[in-house]
Amino acid sequence: MAKVFRMKCPHCGNVVNVPQTGPCPKCGTLLDTNQPAAIAVYRMGNFMGAATGFGIYINNEPYGAIGNRETLILPLPYGSYQMHVVCGMIRRCNDPIIPLSPNDPFVCLKVHMKMGFV
Ligand SMILES: [Zn+2]
Repeated sequence: MAKVFRMKCPHCGNVVNVPQTGPCPKCGTLLDTNQPAAIAVYRMGNFMGAATGFGIYINNEPYGAIGNRETLILPLPYGSYQMHVVCGMIRRCNDPIIPLSPNDPFVCLKVHMKMGFV
């Protein structure tokens, strides 16, 4: 499967999936995927949630949704990021703070929906 970069346009705030560095489809601002750090998000497969996209928020900024078994790479500058993931049925309140630094520039997160009988 091809790598997908998800970028937020610094100019118009458009969130897009791009295969590589290129212009924002909305306003033409260059979206540079060559950032010093990145968060990779992998969503575990789940047959119940197959049709549901999970919303991704970083520092309370919406970053679009992630589909079942999808992997997204979010190129970012160094810094601390609060990651929040929500889906239609369950609101996850476990928001990890992810520090991206020169010593630890790449973080991989796995997202999954807890299964159970209530
Ligand atoms: Zn734009």
